[in-house]
Parts: sequence; C-alpha cells; structure tokens
Amino acid sequence: MARVIETFNLTKSYVTGAGELEVLHGVDFALDQGEFTAIMGPSGSGKSTFMNILGCLDRPTTGVYQLLGEKVDSLSPDQLANRRLHYIGFVFQGFNLLPRADLLENVALPLLYARESAETRRKKAMRSLEQVGLGPWAHHRPSQVSGGQQQRAAIARALVAKPSLILADEPTGNLDTQTSDEIMALFQSLNDEGITLVLVTHEPDVATYAKRLTKFRDGLLVEDGPVINRRRA
Ligand code: ADP
Ligand code: MG
Repeated sequence: MARVIETFNLTKSYVTGAGELEVLHGVDFALDQGEFTAIMGPSGSGKSTFMNILGCLDRPTTGVYQLLGEKVDSLSPDQLANRRLHYIGFVFQGFNLLPRADLLENVALPLLYARESAETRRKKAMRSLEQVGLGPWAHHRPSQVSGGQQQRAAIARALVAKPSLILADEPTGNLDTQTSDEIMALFQSLNDEGITLVLVTHEPDVATYAKRLTKFRDGLLVEDGPVINRRRA
C-alpha cells in the first residue's frame, strides 16, 4: 500500500502582533492510498492549518512533510506547483467558484496551469462534471445552481487533473443535511474508485461516512482510529 502522506513532528507558528504563536505542536500522521479519514476537533484546534500544509498551500515551521514519498520542503517552486496540480485536489466550505464563469470554465481552470490545449481542457472538464452528475449544468453559472450543485462543481474542479488525494475542509459546512448526505455519498463513491480522502468536519454524522477518524485538540493529534458503525450511502 503506497504511503500518500507522512508528517513527522510537524509544527506551525504564526507571527502575530503579540509575538509568535505556535498552533501545531508536533503532529505525526500517516495516510496510505485508498484511505478516507475525517478530521474532527474543536474550532481553533489547528485542523485548517494542518490541511493547508497537507495541500502545500502553507509550509510547516519545523518538522517534515512527505507527499508520495517526497519531502515537500526540498521541492523547487515549479515542482511544488506540479504536485499541487496533479497530486492534490482541494475542496473548501465556501465552494470558491468564479461567479462570472460557467461551471465548465470553473472546472477547467486548474488545467490552465498544465500545458494543454483549450479543447483538451474542455473535454477533461466535461468528463469531470459528468463524473459528479453535472453534465447538463455545464453552461450554468454558479448562482444559477443550488449550493449542493456548486459544491459538486468544486469537487469536479478538484478532480479535473486526476489527483491521488482530495483534501476537503468542512465541505458540507454550508449545506443542509440532505445535501450534505449527497455530497458525502459522492465522496464515498470517489473513495471506492481509489481516491484517497482527508475531510475536516464539525459534524459527527458527516464523519461516519469516512473509514477513519482523526481527532485534533489544541494543536495536537489526540486520537486516531477506525470509524465504528460506518455509514454507507
Ligand atoms: P481550526 O481549523 O481547527 O478551527 P485553525 O487551523 O484555523 O483551526 O486555527 C488554529 C489556530 O491558529 C487558531 O488559534 C487561529 O486563531 C490561529 N491562526 C490560524 N491562522 C492564523 C494566521 N494566519 N495568523 C495567526 N493565527 C492564525
Ligand atoms: Mg478550520
């Protein structure tokens, strides 16, 4: 089983007006291909900070982060951009879609950084939209579809460069229960197809769709184990 993520004694400090504030105090974590873990923990416990480091959107202050066997710290900016595009898809609570672009253009956007023709980008984006059941909405703008459909489009965008890993930070935080369940069913089917997933959530119900539960408290990983009574869509 390939190791997708491994962190060794990861710390993160922010420099604030009041001085340096350490918010991750040494996190050891490993994730293998095909896993699906839910990260839970109180607000302010460092979940988003940790996810941003995993997504190479931010760097740890000390410690080591290895992504698919490579030390992220030793990658050049070009290599880092390449890993971000091809290894990792990110999904956020607020969808983060461009309002003036249609869903197809939104989904194709990450591919602008890949050297591909406009035609190829469109084809891949369409395939990705179809994968999440949004083919017929390709030419709608985000404001013309529901919140659940916007999050599906954001998931299609995360999938478009065929990443091994999807990181989702409270992806159901803005959705009602039924829509949350539909989004979690989609994540489960992506995981069944082999995509590795890390998902942050506040809601225990949402976490039970995952296979594994990782708990943070005060900047530390305090619990990690299998989900008992996993929910299947
Ligand atoms: P969570 O996602 O678990 O709610 P975060 O990772 O967002 O927690 O935040 C952890 C701690 O780090 C909080 O105390 C937060 O205020 C602080 N923090 C997060 N980002 C910054 C930043 N850019 N500058 C200073 N402090 C930050
Ligand atoms: Mg957060």
